Amino acid sequence: MRQPPRLFRDATLDSLARRRCLIGLSAIFASTVTPAAAAEWKTQDDPFTLGVASGDPSADGFVIWTRLAPRPTEGGGMPELPVGVDWTVAADEAHTRVLRRGRATADPRLGHAVHVEVEGLDPDRWYWYRFTAGGAASPTGRTRTSPAPGAQAARLRFAFASCQHYEHGLFGAYRHMAQDDLDLVLHLGDYIYEGSSAGKVARRHETKEEPVTLAQYRNRYACYRSDPHLRAAHRNFPWVVTWDDHEVENDYAADQSQNRDDPKWFLQRRAAAYQAYYEHLPLRRASLPRGPDMLLYRRLAFGDLATFHVLDNRQYRSDQPCGEGRRGGGNMVPNCGARFDPLATLWGNAQEKWLDDGLAGSRSRWNILAQSLMMAQLTYRDAVGQPVHWTDGWDGYAAPRARFLARLAAAKVANPVTIGGDIHSFWANELRQDFDDPRSPVVMPEFVGTSISSRGIPYESTMKVLPANPHVRFFESRQRGYARCEVTPSRWQTGFLGIADAADDQSAIRTVASFVVESGRPDLNRD
Ligand code: FE
Ligand code: CA
Repeated sequence: MRQPPRLFRDATLDSLARRRCLIGLSAIFASTVTPAAAAEWKTQDDPFTLGVASGDPSADGFVIWTRLAPRPTEGGGMPELPVGVDWTVAADEAHTRVLRRGRATADPRLGHAVHVEVEGLDPDRWYWYRFTAGGAASPTGRTRTSPAPGAQAARLRFAFASCQHYEHGLFGAYRHMAQDDLDLVLHLGDYIYEGSSAGKVARRHETKEEPVTLAQYRNRYACYRSDPHLRAAHRNFPWVVTWDDHEVENDYAADQSQNRDDPKWFLQRRAAAYQAYYEHLPLRRASLPRGPDMLLYRRLAFGDLATFHVLDNRQYRSDQPCGEGRRGGGNMVPNCGARFDPLATLWGNAQEKWLDDGLAGSRSRWNILAQSLMMAQLTYRDAVGQPVHWTDGWDGYAAPRARFLARLAAAKVANPVTIGGDIHSFWANELRQDFDDPRSPVVMPEFVGTSISSRGIPYESTMKVLPANPHVRFFESRQRGYARCEVTPSRWQTGFLGIADAADDQSAIRTVASFVVESGRPDLNRD
């Protein structure tokens, strides 16, 4: 038997999160950063090679982000000094009406990343922001606040994306997304890949080595941000991000590595990976990492129209079941009784309770579960025809999934919808309390987006198993792209947008399929 589930600091998570704000930040910023040291640095180089970004909008503000890195894939190229970074937020792109300004410190211990939580702005408006440091100016980013809490919001448009292996394709999908009419972008994981594998395009990671240290993970993020289309998508919209596995290592589960590394060693690797994730994305202080732990699950509201319950599918999960005698990480397994282990958890007890409480307390018309994986059951057949399931996804955690769907059905939550990624293909599914009983009521619709660039899963063989999975209403794995959702009080529409050729970043995009959900009815309608 493997060890029982590991629930990191579940019971004390919230108090630790509060302490992180107080102790973590003050420890980092109060003791050694002096304004004098922060003021003197001057540069002839462009320190804004990684671009600018914004995220986690509230009704009165958002996070604005940049990281100083004149030599991005070679450790950043900054002196080991804290450096002052001036920022402004304006009502217009040309910055003729500056509304907020301040000075932040780019600390070498955070890779000279800067995260500013701007507050006190008006709700439901677009804003523009930029940074200056060392005599250089950043590009101007555009972002927005959400409608006031409870305020009537007529429309929300957002895109969601995942899985952007740099070596498998170009980011033409982001070229289109950057020009789209959106309020928000959600990234649902596999923002970087730790592993290298050649694709149809010539570009390669900055090294074939898997990152393990903080310096190596920083270089990997810098490699991804060298893509101009990814930077443009960040520059034009606020993002809300969560991770999947490849931000650390393929198929890891809490402290369990797919290579069965010593958990103590693996947690050091995880700490490096989590810190690099924080350093490169527009996250709030609440997510500042503490050793190997980082609080990523959180909630964001868009007026009375929608609440995003952003989930962490990796940090607290029990190990994948039925792995004895097999490789670490996920496996396709027949007769895996441990999929129904009542002690198994994907979210961890604290996150699960936080989600239940948030769904029960939500007054929003739509409640969006933003998480990295497909939730629907997917039954494959092995060579001798017996059913097999993939244990790294929700099918490896069938007991906590069934419990959650039963609670969700009983709780009468307004219009739950789940969005996911991970499997490099588009899916539209109707989640049932009992997937093996087509008469079991639909609890929630699900939309899974294809990869931005990562190779798709096999099309023909997957099509063959769909008749045994009648809750799947749509599947397409041959195109890369993203999903776009338009939400109004009465209606939800998801368009699956596919690019013709991921080896060409100028490739055209088209709607592959479109589905509608009417408020009050969880079933899917083909648009
Ligand atoms: Fe992926
Ligand atoms: Ca994944």
